Amino acid sequence: MRHHPKLIDQFGRTVDYIRLSITDRCDFRCVYCMSEDMTFLPRDEVLSLEECARLVRVFVSLGVSKVRITGGEPLVRKNALWLFEEVGQLQGLNELVLTTNGSQLEKQAVALKNSGVKRINISVDSLKPERFKKITRTGDLNKVLNGIQASIDAGFEGIKLNTVLMRGSNDDEAADLVQFAIDKKIDISFIEEMPLGEVDHTRNSTFVSNTDTLKLLQSKYLLTPSLETTGGPARYWRVANSATKIGFISPHSHNFCESCNRVRITCKGELYLCLGQEDKIELMPLLREFPHDDAPLIAAILGSMAIKPKGHDFDLKRAQPAVIRFMSHTGG
Ligand code: SAM
Ligand code: SF4
Repeated sequence: MRHHPKLIDQFGRTVDYIRLSITDRCDFRCVYCMSEDMTFLPRDEVLSLEECARLVRVFVSLGVSKVRITGGEPLVRKNALWLFEEVGQLQGLNELVLTTNGSQLEKQAVALKNSGVKRINISVDSLKPERFKKITRTGDLNKVLNGIQASIDAGFEGIKLNTVLMRGSNDDEAADLVQFAIDKKIDISFIEEMPLGEVDHTRNSTFVSNTDTLKLLQSKYLLTPSLETTGGPARYWRVANSATKIGFISPHSHNFCESCNRVRITCKGELYLCLGQEDKIELMPLLREFPHDDAPLIAAILGSMAIKPKGHDFDLKRAQPAVIRFMSHTGG
């Protein structure tokens, strides 16, 4: 493989982690993520799986060593497994990871493990079936729980639950979800709700701060801070006498942008340099105009490093969402 310069931005940060959304579609309609009736993109405006594989290959040739496949719900994309198998074989890629709502894992966990997926994040916001249905609007908790168990049985190196707490909805379940993670010997992260896309409630009516969640959990568990970092906005705590780590992903605090090591690619091939900013470049035209020549793509990606912003700017009090695009579009 040819060696290209590494991706280093104007502030000296090395980008070695990409998150790729392979679809904007989903079988759920989580209230914080989507509005009730979403319009999805026409098929030809979405990267083909071959284009996804080509993009990942090019990024890996530029020094990227970690790839997260996300969505929308990545596992509802037809033939998604083909992509995992292609990407799983790339030399230089150390970590292929996945974020999913878990609905398809009962069927796909073993094949995903065999394709080279190392770790899985599974989103689950409630352990109460009716409440789960209300939050996801369409989801079946039982299927997700079976998916979690299938993933544990498949033997991934790491499994982490992702939970978004919302005031008045599921904010009384933080401890129950942690206990579930402890019992299953897996990890859990609490993600603060971000103002991405217009949904059917105002964000600051439901916002639960991780500071409060941490305080509550500290009253029930002995937690010790962990030095571990993935270069992202998460802070981790270990639960005494257990295998479980608790992460707090707090995008509203500005304490992580200096170590940001990631960029995001939407299912339309837009390369977003920061989750909370609009700075982007369009990769789709380059993929389609030069199907056999990676040079223009590589030049554009290298050039994008000059516009990666220093940090983001989320403000819950703003009337408009800080960023118009939905998380399901950009990928979580
Ligand atoms: N469908 C998959 C899932 O739910 O895990 C992958 C995509 S989803 C967009 C990725 C993560 O983003 C999920 O953990 C979800 O809870 C989170 N998420 C979606 N919208 C969010 C928002 N507005 N604020 C915070 N987290 C959000
Ligand atoms: Fe779908 Fe994930 Fe968004 Fe829920 S959070 S609607 S599962 S993309």
